[in-house]
Amino acid sequence: MSSTAPDVPTTRKHSPGSPLWAKVIDRSLPFVLAGAGLLAPDHIGTFYLALLVGFLGIAGAVLTGAALVTLLSERQARRIQGPRTKPAPMLSESKDTALAAFIAACFLAWPLWRLWTGRPIGLTWSVEDAGGFPLVLIQNTLAIFVLDAWLYWKHRLLHTKLLFPFHRAHHAYRDPTALAGFAVGPVESVMTFWPLVLVALPEAKHYAPIYFTLVGGFIMLNYYLHCGVRIELVERLLSPLLLNTSAFHNIHHSHADVNFGEAMTLWDRLCRTRLSDSRRGQRKS
Ligand SMILES: [Zn+2]
Repeated sequence: MSSTAPDVPTTRKHSPGSPLWAKVIDRSLPFVLAGAGLLAPDHIGTFYLALLVGFLGIAGAVLTGAALVTLLSERQARRIQGPRTKPAPMLSESKDTALAAFIAACFLAWPLWRLWTGRPIGLTWSVEDAGGFPLVLIQNTLAIFVLDAWLYWKHRLLHTKLLFPFHRAHHAYRDPTALAGFAVGPVESVMTFWPLVLVALPEAKHYAPIYFTLVGGFIMLNYYLHCGVRIELVERLLSPLLLNTSAFHNIHHSHADVNFGEAMTLWDRLCRTRLSDSRRGQRKS
């Protein structure tokens, strides 16, 4: 698969490089996903209340956390890409993150609607109900690796010529802040956040303490990946666990066609798509 990011933008999205068909899909998706609530068999108003609460909750929590991390990281003198030559486009980053939060809320609204209308959902606080601790541990470990594989290959797909228009906006933030961590377009948001809807299925047991820890951990990791600075202690803790780091992911923003891993670096190592792999290859040839 070709992973070369064609025409990586240096300006805001919707530059002439984004074809009309991609703009139409990206701009209509939020309406389609929100409109899907009309298919709820009853309590349609409850669905839209769940959508509103979910949106305010996700956008509020994610943007507040990102703003705090940005406040701290932008004060650091030593930045990975060197001193900024112009201010970070934090308002654009926040707007894109809010839109991504809306897409995530469209998926979260379904389990909330089921919960608020007295229907069973997959989230449980009882480890017995989730199948016992050994099963919960095995399932969650497997889920981490499966989701990481999905995130890596999704990202590789988004760097193909066909799908890059849906990923272009995120690469407008060449030297991002934590506010850009979730600043991705609607199609990419669907590809990233769709698993939220699985919680609506009573058969798909999600043990709440581990589920919320993993979701919270992923959000905090994403802040760090986009904060623009490296914290030596955090780098040393995460790297041996094959978890992604700020130093590793920042290279993806500055070079675009390497370091595709989102949660872990495992698949970059297996597929030799790290910057260090390409440099080694260049030296050999
Ligand atoms: Zn990318």
